[in-house]
Amino acid sequence: MAYVALYRQWRPQDFDNLVGQDHISTTLKNALHTGRIAHAYLFAGPRGTGKTSTAKILAKALNCEHGPTSTPCNSCSNCEKITAGTSMDVFEVDAASNRGIDEIRDLRETVKFAPVDGRYKVYIIDEVHMLTTEAFNALLKTLEEPPSHVVFILATTEAHKIPATIHSRCQRYDFRRIGVQEIESRLKEVAAKSGLAVANDALRLIAVHADGGLRDALSILDQCTTLDGGEVTAANVRQLLGLIGHEWVWRLTDSLAGRDISATLLQLDELINSGKDVRQILLEMALHARSLMLYKAAPEIDNIAMYSEDKTVLDRQSAPFSHAELVKMIQALNEAANEAKWAPEPRIPAEIAFLAVCRRSGGEADFAERLAALEARLAGGVPVPVLPNRPVLQPRPELPPAPALVSAHATPAVVPAPAGENTVEPADSAVPSRVEPAAPKIEPTADTKEAWDRVLKELIANGKRSVHACVAQGQLISLTDQQATIQFTTVFPKERTEKDDYRSMIETIFTHVCGKAIAVNCVLASANKKPASAPPPVKPKTTVRVDPADAQHPALREALRMFDGKIVTEENEE
Ligand SMILES: [Zn+2]
Repeated sequence: MAYVALYRQWRPQDFDNLVGQDHISTTLKNALHTGRIAHAYLFAGPRGTGKTSTAKILAKALNCEHGPTSTPCNSCSNCEKITAGTSMDVFEVDAASNRGIDEIRDLRETVKFAPVDGRYKVYIIDEVHMLTTEAFNALLKTLEEPPSHVVFILATTEAHKIPATIHSRCQRYDFRRIGVQEIESRLKEVAAKSGLAVANDALRLIAVHADGGLRDALSILDQCTTLDGGEVTAANVRQLLGLIGHEWVWRLTDSLAGRDISATLLQLDELINSGKDVRQILLEMALHARSLMLYKAAPEIDNIAMYSEDKTVLDRQSAPFSHAELVKMIQALNEAANEAKWAPEPRIPAEIAFLAVCRRSGGEADFAERLAALEARLAGGVPVPVLPNRPVLQPRPELPPAPALVSAHATPAVVPAPAGENTVEPADSAVPSRVEPAAPKIEPTADTKEAWDRVLKELIANGKRSVHACVAQGQLISLTDQQATIQFTTVFPKERTEKDDYRSMIETIFTHVCGKAIAVNCVLASANKKPASAPPPVKPKTTVRVDPADAQHPALREALRMFDGKIVTEENEE
């Protein structure tokens, strides 16, 4: 006898054996009990979820010799013919291969004849969304005035492609993706009844990879049993599906978590050399990263098909990543998997993605550091433009490369120096032609140096990195019982430090360090006097690269506001 595939052998023959679609079987059973049979049904849902099986059960329920009944007997001649596909009253049309108007016209011709054996003529049109527009129109004519003995069952994986005119004449039933546990228990049942020895972790693996489709799950099981005589193991399933497997995924994840670039690249190389598909590697890594993300977000959730069900692994491997990092990692891996499809060397997108994960920014703390560097750069040495009125694009600072730029116009507003200060004009607005020699800066004593160091350290210890980045450009030159004088060489950090928010923060820290109330006074140590006829200072411009993912970060927003900056993309960079 010819071998019958498991999914056909174990196709459900009544509503009670339909897996994972209780909402549909209950409704259809009720309709059969009350005799409210519609003339057209639309069964929508992913592949392998039981649409065609349900259609055939419904056909039997309508035509069973003991019916119409919600429990077809499966033993009368009508039921048997329908199961065997030889009934003269049940027509299965595959719209994927018969999508034209002629087929539907033929169908319309036969519709008017009375059923041969049963009560109803049942037309099951599979993949109905594949019909041409003309064919849909022809079908619509029949649906508008169907003979009372006809029932249409339209099945589709893409319900949105069904014209509204057809849709509105059908009772719609949505088949849902079948849960991993439901598939697993059905596989267990089928294996036991078929006398197949299959390890539990192998069943679980098949269930996860069937992606909600029972038919696919049974097909995988079928293939596994042909591998060899013994028990089907998880390793067999992995081999069959070409999976790289948990051990590898976990090892790679450990390397990524430890930012170990060479280990990551070596492991990837080893996998590729052992014949694993690059896309498969990326997809399995993405699946595992998703598990880590879900676990991190809600460790108590148990029932979302996790790639790795081992909680100790999830616990250990989700710890080194922030939620945002996991999200970025999944995006990077998925993008690489897409690129790998078309890339002449698929391993290159994979290597880029893995390197990006290894070099990930490191979250909030790291961002604050980079922002502090950015602020320091903007606040500090904005050098004199070489040509008047032509902003000079600064060489790029050593920040991680990324395709967006922050362009900031630092505004060295020239304010008259307050009386009593030994300062003149800001150095950064000075003209190149220096006439007078530079006035010597006041050098701090050892005591003030030490006090200054403590203040700066305290700022860092309090997490005020951006304040630190600005203030640290100055130097404490004198410290009395009431006043600390900080000397700056450029205008911007001086002015910023003088603003209420920074000033009060620093005064608090000085008070803390010195044990008494200290007022902060900021002065400029300028190099030279500017000639009275000097041209107005040119607005210099500094460009700093930032990661586009950080564009909405509140701290960056604040920096843009402070420096009157704007984000420009590489294309519209001036
Ligand atoms: Zn029957």
